[in-house]
Parts: sequence; C-alpha cells; structure tokens
Amino acid sequence: MISFKNQNVKAGRQYLKIDIKDFLQALEWSDKEIVVTCTMRTPAENAMVGGKPHSKHLTGGAVDIRTSNLTAQDKLDVADVAKHFKLKCLDEGDHLHMQI
Ligand SMILES: [Zn+2]
Repeated sequence: MISFKNQNVKAGRQYLKIDIKDFLQALEWSDKEIVVTCTMRTPAENAMVGGKPHSKHLTGGAVDIRTSNLTAQDKLDVADVAKHFKLKCLDEGDHLHMQI
C-alpha cells in the first residue's frame, strides 16, 4: 500500500506524469507501506529543499519514497517495479528518487 508524507504531497499526485502514476498504482499492491515523501514541487519548494534547478519534480516526472522503513531487499523490489515502468531509480540514502 501507499501512503503520503502529508496532504501537500498527496495533492501533488494528480500532476504526475502517467508513467509515474502507473508506478505508484503498481506499488499499491505491495504488502509493505510505501511512504511517498515528494511528488510535484513548485519552483519555490524546489529552491527551499535545495533541489536541482531542472529537477524532474518540477514537471511531475519524479517521485521520492522513504527508505527508513524498507529493507535492502524491499529497495531492490521497488527498483524492479520502477524498471518495469522504465523509470530511473537513484538511492539518495533517506529516500529512493524515481524519475522518467
Ligand atoms: Zn527526488
């Protein structure tokens, strides 16, 4: 199942590109709780968190998933699902960053 860090992150889901939406939909079937910590960002939000100037979060082409509740195997499983949707998966330590 999927949950969202807060209402703002949840609301941002609607602006995501279709491959990212489909990826999240597929994770609904996970027996783990997948916590989404970032979806769409405004330029102001992006600057505040030190995001890259051309971050895919600005265009709905990226999503972040918290890793503190995931095992190494869980992370590999999530990366496998991402690969199925042709997304790039970057392990950023406290989160996995998936992008188109
Ligand atoms: Zn990210």
